[in-house]
Amino acid sequence: MAGLVVVGGGAAGLMAALFAARTGAPVSLLEGSRACGLKILISGGGRCNLLPMASDPSDFFTTGSRNVLKRLFRTWRLEDVTSFFAEDLGIALRFEEESGKVFPASQSAKAVRNRLVEAVIEAGAEIRTSHRVEAIEPDGEGFELEVGHAGETRRLRADRVVLAAGGQSLPKTGSDGSAFRLATALGHSLTPRHPALVPLRSPDPELRALAGIAVPVRWQARVHGKLVEERERELLFTHRGVSGPAILDASHWVVRDGATLRVAWAGLDEEGWRRHAEAESRKRIDQRLSDLLPRRLSELLLARAGIPGRTRVVQLHPKQWRRLLPLLAAFELPIDGDEGYAKAEVTSGGVPLSEVKPSTLESRCSAGLFLCGEVFDVIGRMGGFNFLWAWVTGRLAGESAAASLARA
Ligand SMILES: Cc1cc2nc3c(=O)[nH]c(=O)nc-3n(C[C@H](O)[C@H](O)[C@H](O)COP(=O)(O)OP(=O)(O)OC[C@H]3O[C@@H](n4cnc5c(N)ncnc54)[C@H](O)[C@@H]3O)c2cc1C
Repeated sequence: MAGLVVVGGGAAGLMAALFAARTGAPVSLLEGSRACGLKILISGGGRCNLLPMASDPSDFFTTGSRNVLKRLFRTWRLEDVTSFFAEDLGIALRFEEESGKVFPASQSAKAVRNRLVEAVIEAGAEIRTSHRVEAIEPDGEGFELEVGHAGETRRLRADRVVLAAGGQSLPKTGSDGSAFRLATALGHSLTPRHPALVPLRSPDPELRALAGIAVPVRWQARVHGKLVEERERELLFTHRGVSGPAILDASHWVVRDGATLRVAWAGLDEEGWRRHAEAESRKRIDQRLSDLLPRRLSELLLARAGIPGRTRVVQLHPKQWRRLLPLLAAFELPIDGDEGYAKAEVTSGGVPLSEVKPSTLESRCSAGLFLCGEVFDVIGRMGGFNFLWAWVTGRLAGESAAASLARA
């Protein structure tokens, strides 16, 4: 085989193979699953939120250097990635102003995956599906790969390798953490890994009984009392706890750092809630809360504050306000676990950014190896940011690996 081998045909690997092959390099992509891009197919509820409309480094989390992150995103700016999909790949895009997300106009994740695979083949790369890389060993000039296919193990040579085998979330898509095993065998270390963008479990049966209800909230994550992040998004109650964009975005703080989560229902602080209630002070408090919150949630909050729903706002005693306002504006969510990798959209942690050269994504541990995508200790928020990371790093790793091969 030799030439350049891309290990993994997800978002990052397809982009790496495409850009490497466009330079004229001989490129083979080895994908362990029966098809490339299984995660793209299920992304965005089958619609594929392939990019955000706007992005800055605060949309990403890494335990490594934020300067390196910024530098990497400067290699392919969001507007150029967007026009690449629209103009180069010819995928008509739909910009959803209210959510700030970009989808294909066709609303079809399959169309995006198919167009990417087609572009990789058009560029001249060879794709081998059901080829699972079991081991990668440096052999002086390049690498020898052990590849499982149809029940047999073969050995293949590669002059350059791009490791794009993802993380370990949703292992049934093929990303079962083998990227981490392959990277460590080549000398890399790993930061601790956790499920991220993951629904959380709650021990509170009254909250779980609200399953199916969605509420806009302003959430705050606090680690040892210190505020680490605060944003406004929607929370969804589930049969096991809480989910929705607010919780998925906040989950990594809880899972990794044991953060506590506080929510301000409807995004209002104590003063905002009091002003809202008193704007029509002759009305019952349950009516005023239900104007902004689902009825069953307002009933629960009033019950916890020990206030009968029929109490008129004007009749509320200062003691009752003191019990009610923190429940409305700083409700601490009881959390006792997460739904694990089987439900997580991404893996937090992985290969530290400090172990690659930021200008090329070439490994500092193993010359000729390039890395991209979720294998790194980087995650993005919900909203197309994780694909943005995969596209940007995939392109850089693919082009750099091809340039390195051309120089050899
Ligand atoms: C349900 C769900 C919905 C999502 N929706 C969105 C969304 O709408 N927008 C967004 O931005 N992000 C979304 N994400 C996150 C996004 O899918 C990932 O961030 C992205 O796919 C990571 O790309 P990657 O190429 O690094 O890894 P992956 O897409 O996981 O690709 C890795 C590939 O490598 C292959 N592989 C693994 N090990 C080997 C091996 N040893 N040999 C050969 N091949 C191997 C795997 O089979 C896989 O095809 C979603 C994730 C999930 C789980």
